[in-house]
Amino acid sequence: MQAYGPQHDVWAFAWSGGKDSTATLTLIIHLIRVGRLAAPKLILVFYADTRQELPPLAISAFRIMEQLAELGIHCEVVRAPLDKRFLVYMLGRGVPPPNNRTFRWCTRQIKVDPMADAIEARLSEIDGNVLMITGVREGESAIRDERIRMSCGKDGAECGQGWYQEVLPQSKGVRGRIATLAPLLHWRVCNVWDWLRVYAPMTEYGGWATAAIADAYGGEEANEINARTGCIGCPLASKELALETILAMPAWSYLTPLRGLKVIYRELREDDSKRLKKTGRDDDGSLSSGKNKQRKGPLTFEARLDALERVIDIQASCNEAAARLGRPSIDILNSEEEARIRELIAAGTWPNGWDGDEPTADTPMDMIFRDGSVQPLLV
Ligand code: SF4
Repeated sequence: MQAYGPQHDVWAFAWSGGKDSTATLTLIIHLIRVGRLAAPKLILVFYADTRQELPPLAISAFRIMEQLAELGIHCEVVRAPLDKRFLVYMLGRGVPPPNNRTFRWCTRQIKVDPMADAIEARLSEIDGNVLMITGVREGESAIRDERIRMSCGKDGAECGQGWYQEVLPQSKGVRGRIATLAPLLHWRVCNVWDWLRVYAPMTEYGGWATAAIADAYGGEEANEINARTGCIGCPLASKELALETILAMPAWSYLTPLRGLKVIYRELREDDSKRLKKTGRDDDGSLSSGKNKQRKGPLTFEARLDALERVIDIQASCNEAAARLGRPSIDILNSEEEARIRELIAAGTWPNGWDGDEPTADTPMDMIFRDGSVQPLLV
C-alpha cells in the first residue's frame, strides 16, 4: 500500500461484507487513521448487498457503514435491480434455483454486475487514477490463480471473491485509470481471524464491529472450520457450514428456521411436479431443434406461491423470536420484493423461451434423446 497507494488519488473498495474484504477495509482505514498510510484524496466504498447475506454478516456490515460515516467515509450500498434479485428472479420470473453445473446465474447477476455498474457510474463522475482494493487472498493451500478464480465454490472463500478482482468498468475512459491491488493476498485465515476478532474491535485499532463476522466463520475454530460464506441456503454449497456455525451459538440460535431455505431451494430444483419441461416436439409434432430437447425449465405458479409463503413464514418466525429475545431482526424479503413477486406471477411471467403451456416435468411422455432417437412411452 505504501508503494502503490500514493500513485492513486482515489482508493475504492469492492466490499462483500465477508471476512477477507472486511478485514482489508477496516485495516486500511485504521492504518490511515494512525498515520501509517497517507490518505488518498478520496475513498470510495461499495458494499454488495445481495439481500440474502447471513444475518451476523449483514448486521455487522451496516454497523461498519455507520462507523465509516462517522469518519466521513460514504459507503454506497449496491443491490441488483428489483427484478434481478435472488428471490424475485426465482419466484417472480420462475427461474429455478442456480446449480453448480450448468446453470449458475446468481453470482454474476446479484453480485458482480451490480457492483461493476455502480463502480463505473461513480468513477465516470470523478477524475484521477483509481486503486481498486480487493480482499482476495491466496489462502494457505491455494493453487494460485485457478483457486482464486474458482473460489466461489471452495471452502473458506466468500462467494464472488475471485470475481471482485474482475469487477472493473469496461468503458475505456474509466478502465484505463484503474489498477487493482489485493493487499492481504498472503494473509492466512488465522491472520484474518485475529484481526477481525481480536484487534479490530479494540478501541486503539478502530473499535470496529467485526467480531460477529469472525463468529460466522467459526469463532475460535475458524481456522479448522474454514467456512465459506455467501447467501443463506446457497443452492451451490453442499453444506451450510457458516449458518450451522452461527446457529450453534446461543445468541443466534433463534435463526434456526433459516435452515428451511435450503430445503425449499432443493425441492424447487428436484421436484419434477414443480417445474415445466419441454416435450421435445414442435406444435406440428416434429422434433424440436437443439440438443437438450426435453430440458426442464421454470417453476410453476403453484410452486412459486408455495415457496413464497414458506419464505415469508421463515422470516416471520425468525423475527418473532428476535422481537421476543431483543435480538436483531432479519430482512431477506421485504414488502416491495414480495409485492413484485406476486405482481409478476399475476401477470403470468415466464422466462424467455417458455410460454407456460408446457407440461410439468413429472408428466409421462416419449423420451427424445440428443441424437433425435425416440423411445415411445410404454403404455
Ligand atoms: S452464495 Fe450461492 S446463491 Fe448466493 S450468489 Fe453465491 S453461488 Fe449464488
